[in-house]
Amino acid sequence: MLNTTRHCLRHVFLFITICIAAVFIFFYLSMLTLRHTPGISTVVFPTMTIFLLVFHTMVAGFMLMKYICEKQRLYLMPIACAFAGSALLMLGTLSSYPQWYLCTAGRSINYNDAIIFYFFRNIMMATLFVAAAILFRFRKHNMHARHIHACILFATIIFTASMILLSWFYSSKSSLVSVNFIDNLTYTFTPLWRDIIGWCLVAMWCVTLVILVHISRLRNIFWYSGGFFCVCFIVTLTVLLSSDHSAGYTWYQARFIETVTTLFLIFVLLCDVFNLYRESHDKYLDSYQNSIREPLTRLYNRSYFYDTLTQQLPGTTPARQLSVIVSDLDRFKRINDQYGHLQGDKVIQFVSGVLQNAVREEDVAARIGGEEFALLLTNTSADEALNVAERIRQTICQQDPQNSGGQLPEPVTISMGVFTATEYDLSAEECVQRADQAMYAAKEAGRNRVVVWQ
Ligand code: GH3
Ligand code: MG
Ligand code: MG
Repeated sequence: MLNTTRHCLRHVFLFITICIAAVFIFFYLSMLTLRHTPGISTVVFPTMTIFLLVFHTMVAGFMLMKYICEKQRLYLMPIACAFAGSALLMLGTLSSYPQWYLCTAGRSINYNDAIIFYFFRNIMMATLFVAAAILFRFRKHNMHARHIHACILFATIIFTASMILLSWFYSSKSSLVSVNFIDNLTYTFTPLWRDIIGWCLVAMWCVTLVILVHISRLRNIFWYSGGFFCVCFIVTLTVLLSSDHSAGYTWYQARFIETVTTLFLIFVLLCDVFNLYRESHDKYLDSYQNSIREPLTRLYNRSYFYDTLTQQLPGTTPARQLSVIVSDLDRFKRINDQYGHLQGDKVIQFVSGVLQNAVREEDVAARIGGEEFALLLTNTSADEALNVAERIRQTICQQDPQNSGGQLPEPVTISMGVFTATEYDLSAEECVQRADQAMYAAKEAGRNRVVVWQ
């Protein structure tokens, strides 16, 4: 408990440090830029809005896809709606800049409409962020039935749609209701915005930030970026409230901060996608290895051995021969009977290690039966294969309980049969059968020896 609290406090401390550093860097850079900027074209703000709109649409799409992939992450749905709704409200903002692309908007900009859309964007996003945090808090509760998901999705979509509709009604597009946050003649904020609404929005984002940090405990970079979003809105609102005039640079600063924060969130989401890809690739590699190796010795299994032999046989020529060695431990039943199966397993593992170490990377060492092994030696003549087999046989029979580190209860021996294919005229089964016949010849000749198939 104490550890968790300390861990959480460390995250909060890191979060606050990053936010303070980011705000300082931002203000320093914007002061530097604005000092050298004589004026900004009215085209810049709508252009920045279009970029932000595209980024928010991308985030909404990402969240939606993530939710579709992992349905337990219901908390992603309000976030997807928040960004999708935000993108739609930014279309409203763009409509407040009539014919902005002609660079002649100048006096016809409806700043009051722009801030009404901004106001509803704030309310909608903060509420949906809180909803996401609450759903995250209860993610392990029994709320993953289809109808519960449908209800929550429906409620989220209805809320988002109602925010968009309300903003439309309050804007100059509809004469039903109206509100004045900016005087469109003097471009100054009204007292309603400056003294009440603006600060209420700041307070709302502060509460959202506290809820988000409290519930998520900033456990990963995803929630960090959620926290950065709250701070981004607190800073942008404070920047807007610091000026009486709406036509200054503050709007540009606000939009710039929001764009940077959204880009950070997109970066976090991309990292998440790559992490998922890496995890699933690692799992695939693991399960592939498990499917071609056998569990006791981690040597290749019988089917992998036959598959590889079948693949390599067509390339066999007198200049590129292929050898198969089949081996079987001698009198192994006695080891099992005398020392038990567990000790018998250790002997099998020990011998497997010797076989694996005796072959090259391109060769295949496989366990094809209880204490029967097969080696596939590519580009190896009969003489070379005989040498390899002889080396293995001697290594095994020279081991005793001391130098095997307790793996062998007593010295063991192995019988081996070698068959070399010089051209492609046999199947994999026939090759193994011939090596097997040679191995049985070795058994009959007294065991602990290597016989080459004639
Ligand atoms: P030979 O010299 O003629 O090969 O005599 P052998 O006693 O080794 O005879 P065989 O090869 O027929 O015996 C194989 C024995 O291996 C039978 C079985 O109990 C044992 N065995 C098979 N698989 C395993 C295993 O995974 N672990 C252990 N401990 N024993 C196994
Ligand atoms: Mg045996
Ligand atoms: Mg056997």
